Amino acid sequence: MAKVRPHVVVIGAGFGGLHCARRLKRSAVDVTVVDRGTSHLFQPLLYQCATGLLSEGAISSPVRHLLRRQRNADVALGEATAVDATAQTVTVTRIDGSEFALRYDHLVVAAGMRTAYHGNDEFAAHAPGMKTLDDALAIRRRVIGAFEMAESASDADLQRSWLTFAVAGGGPTGVELAGQIRELATLALDREFRTIDPERARVLLLHGGDRVLPSFDARLSADAQRTLDRLGVETHLGVHVTGVGADYVETTSKATHEVVRYPARTTLWTTGVEAVPFAKTLADALGVTQDRSGRIPVRPDLSVDGHDNVWVVGDMSSLDDLPGVAEVAMQGGRHVGAVIAGLVDGQHDRAPFHYRDLGNAAYIARRQAVVQAGRLRLSGSLGWLAWGVIHIAFLAGIRNRMGTVISWSATLLTDSRRERAITYGDPETARQPYSR
Ligand SMILES: Cc1cc2nc3c(=O)[nH]c(=O)nc-3n(C[C@H](O)[C@H](O)[C@H](O)COP(=O)(O)OP(=O)(O)OC[C@H]3O[C@@H](n4cnc5c(N)ncnc54)[C@H](O)[C@@H]3O)c2cc1C
Repeated sequence: MAKVRPHVVVIGAGFGGLHCARRLKRSAVDVTVVDRGTSHLFQPLLYQCATGLLSEGAISSPVRHLLRRQRNADVALGEATAVDATAQTVTVTRIDGSEFALRYDHLVVAAGMRTAYHGNDEFAAHAPGMKTLDDALAIRRRVIGAFEMAESASDADLQRSWLTFAVAGGGPTGVELAGQIRELATLALDREFRTIDPERARVLLLHGGDRVLPSFDARLSADAQRTLDRLGVETHLGVHVTGVGADYVETTSKATHEVVRYPARTTLWTTGVEAVPFAKTLADALGVTQDRSGRIPVRPDLSVDGHDNVWVVGDMSSLDDLPGVAEVAMQGGRHVGAVIAGLVDGQHDRAPFHYRDLGNAAYIARRQAVVQAGRLRLSGSLGWLAWGVIHIAFLAGIRNRMGTVISWSATLLTDSRRERAITYGDPETARQPYSR
């Protein structure tokens, strides 16, 4: 009788899940990768999709296609909604609402994070975050739609509020988004409208800290700030966003408590993340306590205490305050894949995970990016070149890499941005394109 091979169920086809599945390619296991979407998403370039530079296809790759040559891997579309640690099963809810159960010998959870509103969940209705393809398309709809609304606005005040964009959060995503909206306005749209002057678009970058890009070296932050100033981004430091509505954003100064209300019809939220809801389901099933961001605590080998065959990798795992970046997820996924492969081969070595920090990069504007790796600090054109090479190298699939290089080159040569189609999603959204 043929021996039944151990079954590894991987939840999430992001950086952590995909790299874990791939590491198991030559192992005597069967792998099932479950994701609620059909594609592996390259989140670091979401803001370029949101601002019309890249298509959604350029920053995502079908999971089935990526795993097509891995004979021991299968893919299931659906959302993991329950875990039974005793029976070793995961319940998966399909897109039509029906369910099925997957039995596992090893469970690897790499389901990532979602946007956090820090107790202000009502802001979500007016200020989309940037974590998913839906978010990027919602932001594109709002940003492109705002210029169109301004073009046909009945009075100057209304026009001004449509041309005011607020970005909450001065980390890499906020900085990239604010810079890209100014570049869209000043380079791509400047000759396309008849009534408005898109160059007048006001972009507010609202940040609680005392410098943008706080995770970077202070000198690189200062370089980034100079570039933002040159671009015309209006940066407000030391303020918290304390109110968001359909036509305004309100800030409160941390030092003076002064409240300022800006008439702005587009507010975008990049100030933080929390674990996706499945983390709580998992924590309850395993009897562990989530940290403040909802992440699951793991042991040094990335398994969960008391559950030798359950592993959590990437953004959703909490170990030594490792940053929520793609490299941590990829290296963690590969580490768990290697440990499982060893266990299946009869070894008992559960080596601890050691993260090798390869550095950080953020795009500020055309020919301006900052890169920090070990003692290396790059900004300006050199930083921009390094940033481009790093991002192309990590994009999944040759076709996406080539497509992205072509889109970037075309935009550099002509200033145009072609990916400006807007979608309304479901019929409910279609009726209220600007109110969600
Ligand atoms: C806008 C933005 C820019 C970023 N820029 C950078 C950068 O420049 N450099 C960098 O290193 N990092 C960057 N990051 C962070 C990086 O993208 C994350 O650290 C990385 O994606 C984490 O990988 P992961 O595998 O843990 O989760 P993810 O990549 O988020 O993947 C999680 C997967 O789980 C799926 N999922 C969630 N819940 C379920 C469920 N219940 N059932 C089934 N599937 C589920 C999701 O659909 C998703 O595919 C950025 C993130 C964002 C949002």
